[in-house]
Amino acid sequence: MESEICSKVGKCPLFNGHLLKRSGSEESYKNLFCRAGKEKWSSCMRYQTSEKVGMCADWILPNSSLTIEQIVQKMKEKGELVV
Ligand code: SF4
Repeated sequence: MESEICSKVGKCPLFNGHLLKRSGSEESYKNLFCRAGKEKWSSCMRYQTSEKVGMCADWILPNSSLTIEQIVQKMKEKGELVV
C-alpha cells in the first residue's frame, strides 16, 4: 500500500543510506518511521521539516525532540535556510 511508505523516501538521505554511519540505526529508523504507515512517517521530524520549509538539514533525525519551530530556527541560525 502506498501510504505504508513515506512519500519522501526517494530523496531522503537517511532512507538512502547517506546520513548515518551505522546501518543498524538507519534500519531502525526505517522500520519505526519510513515504512511504518502514514501515522508514523508523517510524525517524522525530517518529514515535517521538509513539508514546512521545503528541505531538511542532515542533522535532523526522525525522532528529534525539538519542535518544528525550534528546528526551523536552528536551521536559520546555522545558515542552512535562507528566508
Ligand atoms: S519517514 Fe522521515 S526519514 Fe523516513 S523517508 Fe520519510 S522523511 Fe525520510
